[in-house]
Amino acid sequence: MTTASPLSYDFVAPRQIVFGWGRRREVGALARGLGRRAFVICGSRTLLAGGALDEISEAIRSEGVEPVRIATISREPEVDDVDRVAALVRSQGVSPGDFMLALGGGAAIDLAKAVAAMATNDQSPTVEDYLEGVGRGLKLAQEPLPMASMTTTAGTGCEATRNAVISSYDPPFKKSLRDHRIMPRIALVDPELTVSVPRAITAASGMDAITQLFESFISRKAQPIPQALAIEGLRLALPAIAEAVRDGSSREARERMSQAALLSGMCLGNSGLGMAHGVAPALGVHCRVPHGAACAVMLPVALRVNARVRQAELARLAHLLFGEDTSADPQEAVQTLIAQVEKLCDTVGAPRRLSDLGVTREKIPAIAASSRGSSMSGNPRELSDEELRQILEEIL
Ligand SMILES: [Zn+2]
Repeated sequence: MTTASPLSYDFVAPRQIVFGWGRRREVGALARGLGRRAFVICGSRTLLAGGALDEISEAIRSEGVEPVRIATISREPEVDDVDRVAALVRSQGVSPGDFMLALGGGAAIDLAKAVAAMATNDQSPTVEDYLEGVGRGLKLAQEPLPMASMTTTAGTGCEATRNAVISSYDPPFKKSLRDHRIMPRIALVDPELTVSVPRAITAASGMDAITQLFESFISRKAQPIPQALAIEGLRLALPAIAEAVRDGSSREARERMSQAALLSGMCLGNSGLGMAHGVAPALGVHCRVPHGAACAVMLPVALRVNARVRQAELARLAHLLFGEDTSADPQEAVQTLIAQVEKLCDTVGAPRRLSDLGVTREKIPAIAASSRGSSMSGNPRELSDEELRQILEEIL
């Protein structure tokens, strides 16, 4: 028997998760439990999706909560977006009973988390000073506004995490505001809201969730509860993603992907991630590669790079997910697992090479140098900048 590491961990999750087809109709009563005035941030697609926003605003109003539409966002949030929207919220006079309501995918939810923090914290006018690794390294002194989220994509799982990812292009960085108090109090996940998500976004966001499940499972910071959730998430997502892409109206496929994405958020929020998520933000700020596509292109190589140092864990996944017999040759089982993941990437039309995403050879040194965030610190295998450059060149 090998010596187990001591069983000692923290686990955080939203206070309340409300999951189910059609359950967006409960948003009014849930909002009433958070306060009297909701600052609403939504993704642009939500606005267009068959009157979803009007339906939700009406549900909130009927419970005596005033909805104030404060921002719409159609791309990953930037420092200026947070600063501008937070100033707008503060100009309304923040008082007890105010809360944030985010309707959308990762962009809307992360923007709302950061605005919730900045609305009540004014040691600096810019969120940059609160981000990890840049600015003045300020901590939140005041309690952020409470928040509820309604997720309209199945991907980032950010409804269940305690960080908000904020970008800047000049200077280029993509960093987190991290504080357990910005996690949504209520995460309302209605898979029916994802039915209108177009194919390409279904594929990219689904691959993001799958990457988060794999990376958290083998992370250096892996924890037992998230590992159990990751197995369940992968069991749900691997057979469902292709179906969700092929037939967006499939209720079962959409439910499975929403559930897998939610679980992936709890996994990454507690166990951290690895090199795919280390490189993804760098691809975002240097080459404008969207997060999901960046994860998809990096997942197979991240598994290969870590195959030897996480052979037992990956062989276990090969057995649980694909029925591989791992008793004879665990190494072979891991190779089969990676081949299955590659096949899945092809099936859903995920990019396989960095050049497919507009990345050029000249950009690789800058991408490697910008990949050293908190995600990379969870990668099982320690990689030098030179090793990382070589790995990226091999998939150019
Ligand atoms: Zn991700």
